[in-house]
Amino acid sequence: MTSEEFDLFVIGAGSGGVRAARMAAQRGARVAVGDDKPLGGTCVNLGCIPKKLYSFAAHYAEAFEESHGFGWHGDAPVFDWSALKANRAAEITRLNGIYEQLLTGAGAQVLRGRARVVGANEVELGGRRFRAKNILVATGGHPVVPLFPGSELAITSNEIFDLPVFPQHLLVVGGGYIACEFASIFRGLGAQVTQLYRGAQVLRGFDADVSDFVAAEMRKKGVDLRVRCEVERIEREGGRLRVTLRDGSALVADQVLHATGRDPNTAGLGLAEAGVRLAENGAVLVDAHYGSNVPGIHAIGDVIDRIHLTPVALAEAMALVDHLFGDGKRTVEYGLIPTTVFTHPSVGTVGMSEAQARERLGAVRVFRSEFKALRHTLSGSTERTLMKLVVDAQTDRVVGLHMVGADAGETIQGFAVALKAGATKAVFDATIGIHPTVAEEFVTMREAVA
Ligand code: FAD
Ligand code: NDP
Repeated sequence: MTSEEFDLFVIGAGSGGVRAARMAAQRGARVAVGDDKPLGGTCVNLGCIPKKLYSFAAHYAEAFEESHGFGWHGDAPVFDWSALKANRAAEITRLNGIYEQLLTGAGAQVLRGRARVVGANEVELGGRRFRAKNILVATGGHPVVPLFPGSELAITSNEIFDLPVFPQHLLVVGGGYIACEFASIFRGLGAQVTQLYRGAQVLRGFDADVSDFVAAEMRKKGVDLRVRCEVERIEREGGRLRVTLRDGSALVADQVLHATGRDPNTAGLGLAEAGVRLAENGAVLVDAHYGSNVPGIHAIGDVIDRIHLTPVALAEAMALVDHLFGDGKRTVEYGLIPTTVFTHPSVGTVGMSEAQARERLGAVRVFRSEFKALRHTLSGSTERTLMKLVVDAQTDRVVGLHMVGADAGETIQGFAVALKAGATKAVFDATIGIHPTVAEEFVTMREAVA
C-alpha cells in the first residue's frame, strides 16, 4: 500500500463533492476526489439533468396538440424512446467529461474507485491508502423501497431512465417530488399512468392550495392519481406486473416505480468504526460547519439528510471550503430556499406555506389568483395557473410565494431574490409588471382573500 498526503480527500464526486474539491483546489489546497461511478453524482447522471431532459421531451406531445389552435396542422409525430435515451446518454457523457476537466483543471486529483474511511485522517481506495488532514463525506443517498412481497420487482428512479422497453402502463408509488415528476413525465410521453399515494394529498408539506391544485391539474392531464392507497404485493403476470393493494383491489402494469424516499449512503463507509455519530437512517450528524463529532471528518449534501437539493449541496460545499481554507465567513441560510417540482404544470415555491405562516406569525394576509394563461385561450388546453402570496400582516413582508403553472421555477427564482431582500407587499405593489406574462400577476394582486 502506498500513502499519499492531501489537505482534503473528498469521497463522492457528486454535486457537493465536485464543488468542494474544485473550490478547495483553486485555493491552493492539495485535493483528491474519489468516486466509483460516473462523475457528477445523482444530479448529473440519475437526477436533475436527465429528469429535466425527459420533462422537456414530455412537453412536446402536448405542444404539438396545442399547436392546432395556432394554425399548425399535420400528422401527429411519433415518439421514439430509444432516440431519447441515446441522446440523453450522449449528453450525460459529455457532462461527465466536463466535470473531469473542471476537477483536473483546478488541480484536484481524480481517483476512480469506492472509498472507505479507515481512520480520522486516512482513506482507502482501490487498495491504496491516502492520508488527509480533512476528509469530506459527500456520498449522497439512494432510493428506498419498502419491504413487501414482490418489492424486488419494483424499479426506482435509478432504473427508470434506461428502461429497455417504454412502459405502456406505469404505476408510480409515492407522492413526493420524484413520484409526481415521473407521473407527469411518463403521462406526457404517452404512457397510461396510475399514481398511488398513501396519504390524503400529494406533496405533503407544500402549501395545501398548491398540492390540491397541482393534483387536480395532473388528473386533468390524465394521471390516474389515487390517494389513501398502499401496495400489499407485486407478482409477475405474463410479461407484466400484478399489483395488489391493501383494499384488495388489483392493477396490472408494465412497470412499478417506487419513489418512496431516499436514505444516506454511509453503509460500508467505515464511519461508525471511525467513531462518527450517525442518525438512525445513516445520515452523518454535523455541526454548523459541517464537521462530524470526529475532528477532520466532515459531511455535506444528501448524506447529512437536511435538504436534498443540488443548489443546497453546492452552498454547503462552499461554506465548508471557506471554513477550512478561507476566512470562514460564508454560511448557508436554510430559510427561503426556492424549489420547483417539475410536474406538468410545474410547482414553484419559496418561503412559508399559508399554514406555516399562520402557525408562526399569527395574522397573515393571503393573495390568491387562479386563471387560464393567455397561451391557452387558443391552445385548447384547459390548464389553469395558480399564484399565491402569503404576507405577514404585521410587517407587510411577503413570507411565502407559490405558483402552479408553466415554467414556475423560472418565475420563482427571481422572486426568491425579492423575498431574500425582505420585500414587502407594498414593494410588490410598486413594481411595474411585464405584460403580457404570467409572472406579472405576482405584482398585480390587490385584494386579499377574505
Ligand atoms: P450525489 O450527487 O448523490 O453524489 C454522491 C456521489 O458519491 C455519487 O457520485 C456516488 O457514486 C459517490 N459515492 C457514494 N459512495 C461512495 C464511496 N464509498 N466511494 C466513492 N464514491 C462514493 N435536486 C435539484 O436541486 N433539482 C432537481 O430537479 C432534482 N431532481 C432530482 C431528480 C431525481 C430523480 C433525484 C434522485 C434527485 C434529484 N435532485 C434534484 C436531488 C439532487 O440530485 C441531490 O440533492 C444532489 O445530487 C445531492 O448531491 P450530493 O453531492 O450530496 O450527492
Ligand atoms: P420525498 O421524501 O419527496 O417523497 C417520498 C414519498 O414517498 C412521500 O410521498 C412519502 O409519503 C412516500 N413514502 C415514504 N415511505 C413510504 C412507504 N413505505 N410506502 C408508501 N409511500 C411511502 O422523496 P423522493 O424520493 O420523491 O425524493 C427525494 C428527495 O430528492 C426530495 O425530497 C427532494 O428534496 C429531492 N428531489 C428534488 C427534486 C427537485 O428539486 N425538483 C426532484 C426529485 C427529487 P408521506 O408524504 O406520507 O411521507
